Amino acid sequence: MEYRKWKKIPIETSLLGFGSMRLKTVNGKIDEELGFKLVDQAYNNGINYFDMAMPYIDGQNESFMGRALKRYKRDTFYIATKLSLWMFNTKEEIEQVIDKQLKNLQTDYIDCYIMHALNKEKFEKIKRLGVMDIVESWRKQGKIKYIGFSFHDEYDVYKEILDFYDWDFCQLQLNYMDQDSQQGIKGYHDAFNKGIPVIVMEPVKGGDLANFNDKVSSIFYDYNKHASLSSWAFRWVGSLEGVKLILSGMNTIEQLKDNLNTFNNFKSLNNKEHDLISKVRAELKNIVEVGCTRCEYCLPCPYGVNIPGNFKIFNSYAMYKNEGSAKFQFKELKDNKADASICVSCGECLSKCPQSIQIPTQLARMLEELRFLK
Ligand code: SF4
Ligand code: SF4
Repeated sequence: MEYRKWKKIPIETSLLGFGSMRLKTVNGKIDEELGFKLVDQAYNNGINYFDMAMPYIDGQNESFMGRALKRYKRDTFYIATKLSLWMFNTKEEIEQVIDKQLKNLQTDYIDCYIMHALNKEKFEKIKRLGVMDIVESWRKQGKIKYIGFSFHDEYDVYKEILDFYDWDFCQLQLNYMDQDSQQGIKGYHDAFNKGIPVIVMEPVKGGDLANFNDKVSSIFYDYNKHASLSSWAFRWVGSLEGVKLILSGMNTIEQLKDNLNTFNNFKSLNNKEHDLISKVRAELKNIVEVGCTRCEYCLPCPYGVNIPGNFKIFNSYAMYKNEGSAKFQFKELKDNKADASICVSCGECLSKCPQSIQIPTQLARMLEELRFLK
């Protein structure tokens, strides 16, 4: 197992971290037998960082992980959990949460405490409710050791958050296809230049980078028929010096074994392998249904259709064939009455699109070709 020292803070973690948000459930309850088996095999194979959060798996996550981990000597692994600010409205509610989390986790302290999924709105809440003073007081009491944040918003918000506090670490969504979205690779470099250790989440883009059509996957398999597609995604992020930990939400033994295989003999990518990744990235970007650049010149649609949002789903599905992800994103549009089915073909958007996309025709084609969305 590859281990990395975080430098800014005195901890050393396995490069592969155990993300527990995707543990399988049976009839709404965590499959405990499988969950214990996964935690045991992870721990026994050298994984020493376990990531969780209070709201994961309908609130069952922390207490399950607490039971699973209490069977091991506390100073042989690191626990990370989060302050999920959307669950609380007042300072008083926040002040009480840490004791509940320690109880859930059956421990006296949490190693890495994360301000969860920060965006503009949650960042404002942190400032408004004086949240950093609260977590600082927990640190003084020995209840938490290190303070970081995870992030989901645009680069400008990221930069503001990064410079707001002397963070011990940050947790970013990064993979070889998402170098320009959210904080992107630019945000990684900002953290690296400040000496802030980076944890990567979604290294395989929620599974998208583990499943390609034959043409794309053969680019990797022709080079090494034994390396799994996901191993390339892990090695891409692991090749970045500032990345100290890569989280993977492992929920099958096969997935854990494949990941261990990658991280037990971890090798950074060489130049030739970086070129292969660039080739795959270019191929994937070519497989788009609609050449929408998401410039948003066509908005607002008088009927409320989120035109680029719909085309994003169409294009992502063409690239990754991930039906679950397409359904999930389409439901969000539907809930906001912004999905393609709202379009009445009024044609008002047509002249606004610099790419000359036949918007109503393409929206209708999307609904026809992705019938599973209806
Ligand atoms: S054609 Fe459809 S998407 Fe375009 S403005 Fe009209 S309703 Fe909106
Ligand atoms: S104007 Fe055209 S390219 Fe720009 S977001 Fe709308 S559909 Fe996409």
